[in-house]
Amino acid sequence: MTDPKIVYVDNGIANRFKDGTIEINRNLLQYPKLKEQIITHELNHTKLDKLNKKDFDHDLTITDQIDNKLLFKFMIKHPSALTQFLPLYYSSTRGWVIDANESIKWIVIISIIGLGFLIF
Ligand SMILES: [Zn+2]
Repeated sequence: MTDPKIVYVDNGIANRFKDGTIEINRNLLQYPKLKEQIITHELNHTKLDKLNKKDFDHDLTITDQIDNKLLFKFMIKHPSALTQFLPLYYSSTRGWVIDANESIKWIVIISIIGLGFLIF
């Protein structure tokens, strides 16, 4: 496997792009163990461009792949990491980016809440 191209950014946790580049929060440099786990996670995504079940499942099981306590600590200390969970965010290197997986999660959450209102 060739070394991935890693770009350090100020927001979010990590994202992999079509061209193979991984953008990762520079504050993770202070958490080498967590950083390795996150890069491994990103590398294990498929190279498929479109949304697919395999990548979606891979994200759903992320809690088994990384040290959650450490991630929690990291997010408390660096709240800029929370932009990771937005369906749409602004990247200084890429402009506006839509995160398809996050979008689906939000659609599911909003649908469940909406359904709750309809029923009760
Ligand atoms: Zn992922």
